[in-house]
Amino acid sequence: MPRILPNKPDAVEIPACHVSDCPLTVDLVLKTSDGKKLGAHSRNLEVYNTAFPCLDSVTHRIEDLVELAEDAETLKLLLEYSHNCKHSDLRKLDVDVVIAFATAAEKYGNFFASEVCKVAMRDFQRFKSANHSLAVLAFRAFHGDLEEIERLAGRTVNLPLSTVWTYCKKDPLFFYIWTEFREQWRISQKVFSRALNKTPRSSDTETKQLKIIRALVAECVVSRFDVDALDNAITTARV
Ligand SMILES: [Zn+2]
Repeated sequence: MPRILPNKPDAVEIPACHVSDCPLTVDLVLKTSDGKKLGAHSRNLEVYNTAFPCLDSVTHRIEDLVELAEDAETLKLLLEYSHNCKHSDLRKLDVDVVIAFATAAEKYGNFFASEVCKVAMRDFQRFKSANHSLAVLAFRAFHGDLEEIERLAGRTVNLPLSTVWTYCKKDPLFFYIWTEFREQWRISQKVFSRALNKTPRSSDTETKQLKIIRALVAECVVSRFDVDALDNAITTARV
């Protein structure tokens, strides 16, 4: 929660609001975990974030810094989403940045930002690594956002248990469910591989396109469990 750092009146340079063309007066200075100072508007924080105190309930001098636990990148987003302005497209940001912002949005009760983060974290195509998928999976599972969660989980099945555990320490039940999911995936992988190999093959009847699709299924589903990649690959193969 916010911590007030008292200062002498002339000890603090008041930073401008970083939202471009913002006409509002800065009446609050936030200090970030990485030592930056950000100009803010107490009324906006109160209106957009349920965890910030009501203006009428606190006495505050602008020269007193309000220290928060989040870094500048995260708090700039929180401040931006505490304005009625055009907002950054979260789908263009790094996954780790979105997760940090989603965590802050929930902590401070910015429900509008939380919903936007939720949408951004359902865009599976953005996750370039299994670790990114795992980070989002753990966050979404912990917050009960389970829509199409199995597709996301499928992208993490080849990660080492120790890696998965580092993301799941605060939610052991999720870790148990994930290990069960992977166990079932491994069983189904064997069954699927056997079925795929038993499919009758004939160089006379199997077209070149069918051979390509068979290889794609083996690569995308059996090896990588990447259904999205399979969709794209088959679409490309059919062109
Ligand atoms: Zn502003």
